Amino acid sequence: MSISINGLTRRYGSFSALERVSLDVAEGEFVALLGPSGSGKSTLLRILAGLDDPDQGSVLRDGEDLLALDARQRRVGLVFQHYALFAHMTVTENVAFGLRVRPRAQRPSRREILARVDELLRRVQLEGLARRYPAQLSGGQRQRVALARALAVEPSLLLLDEPFGALDAQVRVTLRGWLRELQRSLGLTTLLVTHDQDEALELADRVVVMNQGRIEQIGTPSEIYREPATPFVYGFIGRSNHIEGYVERDRLLLGGHAIRGELPPDLGGQRVNVWLRPEHAVLSSRSDIGWTARIVRLAQAGGVIRATLAMHGEGVQMEAEWTAGEVTARGLAEGDTVTVQLRELTLFTEVGGGQRRDVFRPFRDGMSPASGGAIDMGPWLHRKA
Ligand code: ADP
Ligand code: MG
Repeated sequence: MSISINGLTRRYGSFSALERVSLDVAEGEFVALLGPSGSGKSTLLRILAGLDDPDQGSVLRDGEDLLALDARQRRVGLVFQHYALFAHMTVTENVAFGLRVRPRAQRPSRREILARVDELLRRVQLEGLARRYPAQLSGGQRQRVALARALAVEPSLLLLDEPFGALDAQVRVTLRGWLRELQRSLGLTTLLVTHDQDEALELADRVVVMNQGRIEQIGTPSEIYREPATPFVYGFIGRSNHIEGYVERDRLLLGGHAIRGELPPDLGGQRVNVWLRPEHAVLSSRSDIGWTARIVRLAQAGGVIRATLAMHGEGVQMEAEWTAGEVTARGLAEGDTVTVQLRELTLFTEVGGGQRRDVFRPFRDGMSPASGGAIDMGPWLHRKA
């Protein structure tokens, strides 16, 4: 079923937990709500589940007013981080619960219920554990039981609020892949709340980045990572560097340097917030093309080497990521001086309450050590915009 959320607002006194949130979720789509703690993710989920009411806005499910239905009529499957299983019931009894409590006319027979539970336990790969009690299960197994219980009532919408939040890292990663497979095979419209960006980017068809009750950006995982719409998203997803700069006609002034490249003419005379990913600071093959930087620190980070750089000239520090191969081939060590080129810079400019976004790719020879360290950025950056 498709969901259409329009202008949802939820206030507590003068504080907005949700502020005019709109979002369309297609049939069978897996959408992740990603944001820091307190950004309104759970509030949105609770409203969809019927556990809370908005002050304004509407939610349509296949064109029908979802908010007009009470929670039990909504056919929504819910799994929370601490949605405790019934401790005195076996796995089978827990999963069967939602079907057993149905009014008589809608309740399947005992035999049908058991067949359905069997099938669900197979789906969540817990066939052998049907007679156990929750206390006899691992955390990951418990959450799979919770999911089976949510699926038992054949929901039209699955809502997951930090379902793996209490589990250790390795179990989380395993369950992630498993959940994705399950969701695909069921074709069930799913909303997952998480503050874990890896989880969101890996699982979801689309990611909704939330901040302070508002949506900052909606996009595919790749759009969210490669084309962050706002400085918040840039800083929140992945690793990043942020430096203040100034556009002077055809040059970007940054950390005491000038970088030449194609700049939109109307950015001239503007202060800009410059963002770049560590992988955009690449090692130059020529010492006259790029900027000189001192390697403050080198650290192994997964498959890459993370370098903290002090850029020549001003006190600008930057994080870069290089392959272990490059670092070894050049015999680089902490304290060494290298030449670095910045490949792609995202410039955010404040315009009329919003953020203008431009991508700036310096000319190949647009950065040279000779142009560096000479420009005092103070007057530019401290000038009132
Ligand atoms: P998230 O799930 O993104 O961490 P929540 O949706 O739970 O955030 O909460 C959003 C904001 O609303 C938070 O600042 C929270 O303190 C506030 N909030 C949530 N529930 C209540 C409540 N019952 N009374 C007052 N403030 C609340
Ligand atoms: Mg929450």
